[in-house]
Amino acid sequence: MTASVRPHQKAKALKPSSRRPAKELCSECGLCDTYYVHYVKEACAFINQQIAELEVEIHGRSRDLENQDEWYFGVNQDMMAARKTEPIEGAQWTGIVSTIAIEMLNRGLVEGVVCVQNTDEDRFQPKPVIARTPEEILAARVNKPTLSPNLSVLEQIEQSGMKRLLVIGVGCQIQALRAVEKQLGLEKLYVLGTPCVDNVTRAGLQKFLETTSRSPETVVHYEFMQDFRVHFKHEDGSIEKVPFFGLKTNQLKDVFAPSCMSCFDYVNSLADLVVGYMGAPFGWQWIVVRNDRGQEMLDLVHDQIETQPVMSQGDRRNAVQQSIPAYDKGVTLPMWAAQLMGVVIERIGPKGLEYARFSIDSHFTRNYLYLKRQHPEKLEAHVPEYAKRIVGQYKLPE
Ligand code: FAD
Ligand code: SF4
Repeated sequence: MTASVRPHQKAKALKPSSRRPAKELCSECGLCDTYYVHYVKEACAFINQQIAELEVEIHGRSRDLENQDEWYFGVNQDMMAARKTEPIEGAQWTGIVSTIAIEMLNRGLVEGVVCVQNTDEDRFQPKPVIARTPEEILAARVNKPTLSPNLSVLEQIEQSGMKRLLVIGVGCQIQALRAVEKQLGLEKLYVLGTPCVDNVTRAGLQKFLETTSRSPETVVHYEFMQDFRVHFKHEDGSIEKVPFFGLKTNQLKDVFAPSCMSCFDYVNSLADLVVGYMGAPFGWQWIVVRNDRGQEMLDLVHDQIETQPVMSQGDRRNAVQQSIPAYDKGVTLPMWAAQLMGVVIERIGPKGLEYARFSIDSHFTRNYLYLKRQHPEKLEAHVPEYAKRIVGQYKLPE
């Protein structure tokens, strides 16, 4: 008997040099590097935004537009702050993502984990893999703050005959994955997401490091923190802190990838479980359980983490409204003023979930303006209804 050939298997991956169907909005999610390019017009997050429809398929309902919290955080059944009691050395935060993945593999829930390591030559150059051992998962710990073609390994799944899989990824990768999920021949797919914002190409990352850090070549990782500073961790373990308000926004305006300037899925709406940091107190991670499968994943590590309820403090709205024209005009404060403003805002500024709302509002208003100016024809269909409501709370420049 001959094995049946699925329609996509007749398709051919695009060559690395050929222009992607989403053109400059492509986030290099990896789908087009495989024969699943066959589904690109339906699956690509930048060609066919379909978050509400996919939420119904994955979570059983789309987010409740009468509930403001769901505008921001999506469908969820639980939310908390958490940290590992014994953090993983070298992880981005405390390593909850890597720990869940390792438990799922060790307990036989999955046969492989899609995650992203780095190349031998460059710690920030992404190398997507299907990890089959805890060591391979650990080698993928820490953010690669660059566009990463995680889905480029999808062909290997079908070829390997794997039936149970965990995929770790950011929103645009997960949207495309969900759209082709039924074609993968899997019995069970678990999705562990992280929030994601302001990603860059490898060249863009170099420019960001060179314009912002005192020692770009020794940066091991960085994060835009809840204390309104970028924290750069260097090879020698030292932490360099640069206030957001001191960033050279005029030089950095074109650093972020056009895909990320057009993204409204900061909180990874279609993952089963999301692990970030921005809704939690400093030093803690922020967990959003979207459905029962996400709860099942989180339960695996309950004896390795401590948790506390999420909190929310302050009022972000004025700060967001004021930052809109400042960003638009590319205003950069002198460093002493930026430091001072950082200290003041840290004391009185938004905390916990209100900080997460601050970050979402700031990015959605900026992205809405970007799309309106650069791709006005896409505005209506590409911006989800919840994002239109978030942006509608503010006065935007023309
Ligand atoms: P670790 O155990 O260190 O594991 C990290 C995992 O991330 C690894 O499994 C790896 O496969 C995966 N990964 C690394 N780089 C990429 C990539 N480029 N694409 C897809 N997967 C990747 N959280 C927020 O709350 N607010 C933010 O603004 C925010 N921005 C982010 C921007 C980027 C580009 C990324 C990748 C993540 C961002 N996060 C954000 C998530 C956060 O920084 C941590 O990744 C998350 O809290 C998990 O930490 P950890 O210690 O548990 O992860
Ligand atoms: Fe293809 Fe992904 Fe780029 Fe869309 S974002 S064009 S699916 S590689």
